[in-house]
Amino acid sequence: MNDYPEIASPTRTQAILNRYHLSAKKSLGQNFLTDLNILKKIVEAADLTRNDNVIEIGPGIGGLTEQLAKAANRVLGFEIDQNLLPVLAETLAPYDNVEIVNQDILKANLPEIVESKFKASHPLKVVANLPYYITTPIVMDLLANPVAFVAIVVMMQKEVADRLDAKPGTKPYGSLSVIVQQQNNVDIAFTVPKTAFIPQPKVDSAIVKLTPKKNMGVEPFDRKKFVGFVRGCFMHQRKTLWNNLLGIFGKDADVKEQIQTTLDQLGIRAANRPEQLRVDQFVALTNAFHEGDLI
Ligand code: SAM
Repeated sequence: MNDYPEIASPTRTQAILNRYHLSAKKSLGQNFLTDLNILKKIVEAADLTRNDNVIEIGPGIGGLTEQLAKAANRVLGFEIDQNLLPVLAETLAPYDNVEIVNQDILKANLPEIVESKFKASHPLKVVANLPYYITTPIVMDLLANPVAFVAIVVMMQKEVADRLDAKPGTKPYGSLSVIVQQQNNVDIAFTVPKTAFIPQPKVDSAIVKLTPKKNMGVEPFDRKKFVGFVRGCFMHQRKTLWNNLLGIFGKDADVKEQIQTTLDQLGIRAANRPEQLRVDQFVALTNAFHEGDLI
């Protein structure tokens, strides 16, 4: 398709940055991937076919975008940094199936953009090397979005990946694990050393694949309320579930009695710490407290 080496090689990345007098902006989480093998493994983890449409968050100078363009039907990239637009116009010029929009992903109206840019008949995936300073808000926004992604395959700090994937009773298990796992299967596809980036980040990274669960079991009566409740339960992670529940609902004697009855009915011990509860127990608690008019 073009005579240049791949964008993601260390020499070409450095040459592009030099030519445009750019240095990576730490404040925007700019760490460019320069290992072609890893980019190919990301594309593989996303199981991309020519039928798939892709949303990429933060194309940077286009290293991953190029590999996505080669594998997918259409790619739409959201890049916040205006200074990268001329770079992307040049590096991605050989690919007519890529479009870049200069928007903050956290402010974008995804349903509207997706409807205007993509045909609904194509499966839609998110594939990205995320800006690490906003990993959690991006993942939460994507999952709260009404747009149905068939997979979200994203690179993030290993530590956040471990939280997404954590099992009850383990240290990284927290509100993020519960909220994400309630709707999604979580797989850590592979980990990536710092040395694969220019400039190198301070931490190691991992590729996480989220796919919507086919069978979610009992669902919360209201997703937003569930998210708020779970966050409240983990507000003071070192305190017991009981104390966190009093923090949410207050210490009124009637309320205390209602909480105790609900816990007893569900067979959950008040002395447990929040990290000992399974996802389905958080759902059951949300729904039971809703039935009791507490939520
Ligand atoms: N995709 C490139 C790669 O893999 O080499 C760059 C990834 S870099 C870790 C993250 C990218 O996200 C940067 O290009 C940065 O400018 C962009 N970015 C940061 N915050 C953003 C936001 N709120 N919305 C869209 N893009 C953002």
